[in-house]
Amino acid sequence: MASSIFDMRLSGGHPALELVNTVDSRRGRWGPDFLRSFDDVLAFVERLQLIDARGLAGLRERAAVDPGKAEDALANLIRLRETIYTLFIAEDTDAPYPEPALSTVVEMARAGRARQTLLKSNQNFVWALPFDNPSDIFHLFAIAATDLLTNRSGRRRVRECKGDNCGWLFVDRSKGGRRRWCSEASCGVHSRVKRFRAHGDDR
Ligand SMILES: [Zn+2]
Repeated sequence: MASSIFDMRLSGGHPALELVNTVDSRRGRWGPDFLRSFDDVLAFVERLQLIDARGLAGLRERAAVDPGKAEDALANLIRLRETIYTLFIAEDTDAPYPEPALSTVVEMARAGRARQTLLKSNQNFVWALPFDNPSDIFHLFAIAATDLLTNRSGRRRVRECKGDNCGWLFVDRSKGGRRRWCSEASCGVHSRVKRFRAHGDDR
């Protein structure tokens, strides 16, 4: 069982959903929350490979100089995380996206996009955040969430894991679109064992 941001399972299939899943769990009971400090946030984006060593060092330095800004960034990221959850859990039941959540995420992503600059990366150019302010962390995830919205091509759908004490969100890219578990090896096996035991009690 995971106990921190360093060993939590990454089974959301998209950065915006991995962010949602930093609460273990959401169904049955809520928590624990793996994002307890700005250091946790930095460890998380490093694990997701969303930032390079230079960006990471820059943010670490900014957070040390101005801890208040790092705390604000953490609080805003947690708010954004819950908004992203509200937005994408709607897909599980084919409900329309809730309007306030949608406009909050879009506004945050627009602010983030305005901060992006065109950087040369190998032979390519990429739009990237400067990571010279802790607030770029939530810009990063707001942009990721809108990327997930604009990539609804194919059969992808966001699902809620139906495992007991889970409720994580994941991208279902399965052919039939009937994937039930965030992780077959964890929630899937657990649920089958439980069903087997319940069946045994009936006899
Ligand atoms: Zn699960």
